[in-house]
Amino acid sequence: MHTNSLIELNQKAYQTNIDFLKKTFGDKITLSSVVKGNAYGHGIGEFVTMAYGYGVTHFSVFDVEEAKAVFAALQDKVTIMVMGLVKDEDMEWVIGNAIEFFVFDKNRLTKAQKIAEKLQRKAIVHIEVETGMNRTGFEKSDLKSVLAILKKEKEHLFFKGLCTHYAGAESLENYDRVNHQIKKFEEIYQYFCTNDLQPEMRHSACSAASIIFPETRMDLVRIGIMQYGLWPSPEVFASFLNSKKDKTNPLERVITWKSTIMSIKKINSGSFIGYGTSYLAKRKMKIAVIPIGYAHGYSRSLSNQGRVLINGQPCTVVGSVNMNMISVDVTEVDTVKKEDEVVLIGTQKDLSISVASFSDFSNQLNYELLTRISKTIPRKIIK
Ligand SMILES: *Cc1c(COP(=O)(O)O)cnc(C)c1O
Repeated sequence: MHTNSLIELNQKAYQTNIDFLKKTFGDKITLSSVVKGNAYGHGIGEFVTMAYGYGVTHFSVFDVEEAKAVFAALQDKVTIMVMGLVKDEDMEWVIGNAIEFFVFDKNRLTKAQKIAEKLQRKAIVHIEVETGMNRTGFEKSDLKSVLAILKKEKEHLFFKGLCTHYAGAESLENYDRVNHQIKKFEEIYQYFCTNDLQPEMRHSACSAASIIFPETRMDLVRIGIMQYGLWPSPEVFASFLNSKKDKTNPLERVITWKSTIMSIKKINSGSFIGYGTSYLAKRKMKIAVIPIGYAHGYSRSLSNQGRVLINGQPCTVVGSVNMNMISVDVTEVDTVKKEDEVVLIGTQKDLSISVASFSDFSNQLNYELLTRISKTIPRKIIK
């Protein structure tokens, strides 16, 4: 087991986020907690257990492996919805355990029907329709036969949801495109209704859409990034603040990533630090080595740029990020010693390294940075 670093999940911060989201959406809308990508790096098993403790009973995942991870933690106490891939060989497990899933092609629809019939169960399907993202989803031309299959196979196909996904609701430059999608989605819904087939629910919103386009909330919202205490983009945050009198951020970062100093070294002026020549010491320096590198998800693009906190002071990464180590400049930190705590993301004394500032350095999105954090790092819930 990896003991070089630790991920802490702050339960209070999570509660703050969930309270905010529930207040924003009201209790008629189901909040689905999106936990794909190892719960955005937070650790899926630990995260869903914590979320369940705060009343979250609906989880969305990408594939069956993730569905199994949620199921292992919470069994049938919660609803699990697979938004992406269900392989044929996993279909029996999925239908047998009442796992819900997106269906976006006819092969899968007929496969689901066959397996459900064999198991004498109903497959709980969410029909995903194409509205303009051009990724997955039934085309308009498919709808007639989808409708016919759903009607004919009612015994084995439960039309739980009609859904779609927006193409970049977090960026205002996509405003027109998303509005067009919203309109198209409504037309498709009307098409089903006028043909006497209504889904139990409609859903389309991710975090960004739920804030910028409130009409996309419908019956269920699929919320990933915001429940972790981060905004989908600065634009969404700004747009949220503009609509409020109170200009404070209602979200709190749930994740903290910590390590400890592995060794300390004094360097003479004029020496290169680490591999190659990317960092030349221009003075006498004190360098601390931290046992975290790109193998653990600390991006190489943070070479010579990333910052960490040691004894409440910001320290810059010097030289390149190695596979398992980084070196940081602790020249100005007085009483620094081996085993001192190092904060990679999080707060120490009065300072914070936010995920956003961390990813700004390297032009990564919050999403990408978080999901890169290695699965092998232990996750611990902090009360
Ligand atoms: C990831 C994802 C979401 C959640 O997105 P956030 O921006 O993190 O809220 C919602 N719906 C689908 C289909 C997704 O893939």
